[in-house]
Amino acid sequence: MKETYGAERLTDEKWQAIAENDESYDFKFFYAVKSTGIFCRPSCKSKLPNRGNVRIFQNAEQAIREEFRPCKRCKPTGERLPDREWVAIMTEYMDKNFAEALTLEVLADVCHGSPYHLHRTFKKIMSMTPTEYLQNIRIGKAQEYLLTSSLSVAEIATRVGFPHTSYFIALFKKKTGLTPADYRKQEI
Ligand SMILES: [Zn+2]
Repeated sequence: MKETYGAERLTDEKWQAIAENDESYDFKFFYAVKSTGIFCRPSCKSKLPNRGNVRIFQNAEQAIREEFRPCKRCKPTGERLPDREWVAIMTEYMDKNFAEALTLEVLADVCHGSPYHLHRTFKKIMSMTPTEYLQNIRIGKAQEYLLTSSLSVAEIATRVGFPHTSYFIALFKKKTGLTPADYRKQEI
C-alpha cells in the first residue's frame, strides 16, 4: 500500500475512539473517510464508516491538503463548511452511487447532517430536491444505455437504481415525454 504524506496509522486505540465518539481524543487526531471525502473529529456522532475507508491525520491542515473537506456536523476546523461545498459532497456522492438504494436518510448519514437540513440546503443551492437530482442522473444514464447498449428496459432500470421497472418506465416518460422503448426506437 502506498503511504501518503501526513497520514498516520489507524491503531485499534484510535478506531475505538472513533467508534465510541470519544471526546477526549478530539484534536489529538482527525479521521477522514475516503468514500465521501469528509473528515471529522473522533467524537463526531455521524455513522461509523468502514474501517478500510478511514485515514488518520494528526491535524486538520494535513487532511485539507489532501483535499478532504471538514464535516458540517462536528466542524473539525471550528468553522462552518460553506453550504455550496456541502452540497458538492452530496452531488459527487450521488453521481458515483446513483445505482445504489439511496434515500435521504442514507445521504444524510454519508454527508453528516440531518435529513431535514440536508434537503433544505440542497434545494436552496440547487433549486431542486436531492431526489430530483438523483432521478435526473438515473434517467440520463438510462438514456445513454438505451442508445448505446442492447440491454432490456428491465436490466437498464436495475442498473440505474430502479428496482421496479414499472416505476422506471413511468418516471422516464414523465421526464422525457417518451417510454424507454419509444425513446430507443426514435433515436435509431
Ligand atoms: Zn463529523
